[in-house]
Amino acid sequence: MGDWGPVAALTERDPTDAETALLNAYCRDIAAALRAPGMVLDRDPDAIAEHLDLPAVALQNHVLMPAEYRRGGDARLARAVSGVSCVSWALVAERLAYGDTGMVLASPGPSLSSAAVRALADDAQQAWFYGRLAERPTWTFFGLTEPGKGSAAAELETTLTPAPDGVGWLLTGEKTYIGNGARAQLGVVLCRRAPGPWGIEAVLVDTADAGWHAELLPLVGLRGSRISRIRLDGMYIPPDRLLGAGRPRSRRGLHGALRTLLWFRPSVAALAVGVTHAVCDYVLEHRPRLGGGDRARLDDLIDRSMRVRRLVYAAAAEVDAGAANAHRIGATKMSAARLAEEATLLAADLLGPASLREHPWLEKTYRDVRAFEFMEGTGNIHRRGVFQGLLRGNFFPADGPADDPADGSAEDSAAGSASGSAEGSATPGRAD
Ligand SMILES: Cc1cc2nc3c(=O)[nH]c(=O)nc-3n(C[C@H](O)[C@H](O)[C@H](O)COP(=O)(O)OP(=O)(O)OC[C@H]3O[C@@H](n4cnc5c(N)ncnc54)[C@H](O)[C@@H]3O)c2cc1C
Repeated sequence: MGDWGPVAALTERDPTDAETALLNAYCRDIAAALRAPGMVLDRDPDAIAEHLDLPAVALQNHVLMPAEYRRGGDARLARAVSGVSCVSWALVAERLAYGDTGMVLASPGPSLSSAAVRALADDAQQAWFYGRLAERPTWTFFGLTEPGKGSAAAELETTLTPAPDGVGWLLTGEKTYIGNGARAQLGVVLCRRAPGPWGIEAVLVDTADAGWHAELLPLVGLRGSRISRIRLDGMYIPPDRLLGAGRPRSRRGLHGALRTLLWFRPSVAALAVGVTHAVCDYVLEHRPRLGGGDRARLDDLIDRSMRVRRLVYAAAAEVDAGAANAHRIGATKMSAARLAEEATLLAADLLGPASLREHPWLEKTYRDVRAFEFMEGTGNIHRRGVFQGLLRGNFFPADGPADDPADGSAEDSAAGSASGSAEGSATPGRAD
């Protein structure tokens, strides 16, 4: 892989501001370096430890970290990234996924938990979380999904009960499919202090503390994500690790979880778009004279990917403007995930009957992209979210003001399409 291929280069025609152009140019120069280690990571996900000096690893850490905690990075990186924004993160996700998605997910850094921290943490909690991240390469996790509660995350059962001496809490339960769970040092766990959706809390966790157990789950694709099963065995949580303690119940755990999912969902879609374009460019590299019906099939997919890409950045901009529409974000993520799968199927077809044997990168990518369907909510759940948005008349922007995620109805619909569908249980007042 050299620089961008022709399909990725097409995306650079979209008008953009000066800072985004700088970030884009930076990503273009560093993404290619992820392709080879990505192949290694597929065989040995722990090999990420040998690649921590890659600029792409530093970039990820940088772009999700508040400016006052950023360390290292060259002057060019500093110019390319000012504040933390959903648009910047989506761009980084798209561009680095063009190199390798597994490397993106395997890298240390603030990850999903940073959005929960931004939404809920007080100054001291932010200093604890980001201060630790600034010290050395640190992996983090976001623990929402539970066995049997993937699409119904608001029904989670992990409990937070008062510690016997009345100071602090005990955290007990199980989480599953948690990215980087078994190698993380810090993270956020969603748990239940009381029945009902507003009984959900979010706590900061240090995985070195007693009561933390994590094991890796076997993965067919996207092995760098290191999804893990976690057991929380009466883990002691000091009082100052409860996030959003001073807030009303409706603005605490569930609110933080939904803000996190809304914030990161455009970037999952961006990962899928980045891989889609990598696959299209791979086909063009290996069949440079592709023509006729075959070329038309590829062009059709490229056209559709450009439309989805525009939706991704529109969704990310809405998140940054505090006007996220959960239905549209879910639809965008679902479309992008489907497109990436379609791209690998088409590539396998266009490169010939033995393509998955002859092209190890394509074979790996073919496995990797299946994960997008599950990350941040499955297609069925998002389809239902689209339906709900259409029924409510707020799916299309022209129908009225976009939902504010701080608004209860937006949360309800976000939950309905969350990694967690809260499906009705996000309605305040419903007894569990
Ligand atoms: C690579 C990867 C990384 C992940 N990282 C994290 C992480 O860091 N933190 C975290 O908390 N979670 C994480 N997850 C978990 C992810 O959010 C869940 O896989 C997802 O929410 C789906 O849950 P599930 O796998 O239990 O599927 P299920 O909920 O069991 O769904 C199985 C099938 O049933 C369908 N289905 C379920 N309910 C309904 C319904 N009501 N109507 C119609 N169809 C339905 C689904 O669409 C799906 O097809 C990750 C997953 C992956 C693949």
